[in-house]
Amino acid sequence: MKNECDIVRDLLFSYCDGVLSQTSKELVEEHLKNCESCRNILEEIKQDDKNPKQKKEIDFLKNIKKKLNKKNIIISITLIFLACIVIFNILAFRYYNEMASKMEIYLQDNISDEEIENIKNKITEISSDIELEYISKEKSLERMKYKLRDEKNVNVLDGFNVNLFHESIEIKADPEEVETILSTIRDMSGIRKIITYENNNPYELFIGYLLTK
Ligand SMILES: [Zn+2]
Repeated sequence: MKNECDIVRDLLFSYCDGVLSQTSKELVEEHLKNCESCRNILEEIKQDDKNPKQKKEIDFLKNIKKKLNKKNIIISITLIFLACIVIFNILAFRYYNEMASKMEIYLQDNISDEEIENIKNKITEISSDIELEYISKEKSLERMKYKLRDEKNVNVLDGFNVNLFHESIEIKADPEEVETILSTIRDMSGIRKIITYENNNPYELFIGYLLTK
């Protein structure tokens, strides 16, 4: 039996590959029926044969996973990029809408109180919902000082006694009302300059706001 085991074991590789002659094949099978240790060796050979294939499959799966990871990263970056564009657009147009509802009317230095009242009345006649605030030269200077104040609370305008600002009226209204106000008061006396934002490019306006913030 020992001798037969040696012969059969020599033949097992060829048996697995299916290249034995019918006679040798029958001999091996007949022996395997009664010999457990040879059956075990056959199992080991079969396992070893399987391994390279398994390894290939594992490599293949790993490759797919790698590619998927790469794809996921690219998709993620693209989505983040698109989200940034969407958010930027939303913020820019929100800011534009806010600005388009604003209007600044700068007044001439020699304007009379009566002329100021006339302008105010003309505006409030259009709609009672329009918010209107008179800003004196002093208030303009105070505001600018507040804006320019740095983190050490030092202000470049401190000790600056000449006020170069002008009186103004600030208005908050619906964008359509801004248009009406503009055409109503454009030619009234005492007005130096009117500033509106609705004809500005929303992106330029928003970028300008971000840069000065
Ligand atoms: Zn045997």
